[in-house]
Amino acid sequence: MKLKLLGMILLILNVSCGSSESDSTDDQYYSFIQLPSAGLGYYTMTTSDKLYGDPSLIMGLQQAGQRWHSSGNARSFGRMGINDISYFDGSPVPGHSSHRTGKDVDMRPVRGDGQERAVTVDSAAYSSRLNATLIRRYLDPNLGVRIILFNDPEIFGSRQNTTSCPFPYRSGLQLNYVKCWVGHHNHLHVSVR
Ligand SMILES: [Zn+2]
Repeated sequence: MKLKLLGMILLILNVSCGSSESDSTDDQYYSFIQLPSAGLGYYTMTTSDKLYGDPSLIMGLQQAGQRWHSSGNARSFGRMGINDISYFDGSPVPGHSSHRTGKDVDMRPVRGDGQERAVTVDSAAYSSRLNATLIRRYLDPNLGVRIILFNDPEIFGSRQNTTSCPFPYRSGLQLNYVKCWVGHHNHLHVSVR
């Protein structure tokens, strides 16, 4: 009986040692939490299986949404449109090279006319001032932004080169954590720390 018990204990120890020796990033993936498909101040544009992320990102998005709502901005300018984050286990998300650590989220720019629809930085419905407010007052303080890829020349402060970003700088905010990157004229790719 004692031997059997000892065997069981060894088995448990072996299992726990085994799991800690596996890829350490597994622990990180399994700590992801899921963003509800809708909440105060935001709506989502992807399936719920791609709304998992690091708690800091998920709770930060909820907090930003609540503040966007309580300020009245959601009613005037539309809610924040949230797209792909990560799968629960960090497996590759089609169409993205990142989005595996639970610390990346794609978002729509908000529109000056309040409609919850797609918009590009060169559209008449787009407002630099409004999206600068979204970034500086709502995303950055609540999410702990590391970098945002977004091609508004009034807002971005850096770029890799003129091939990845064919837009000229304009006199504007030039936020150093906002980077111009090919393909990001219609969405913000937000990475958190
Ligand atoms: Zn992205």
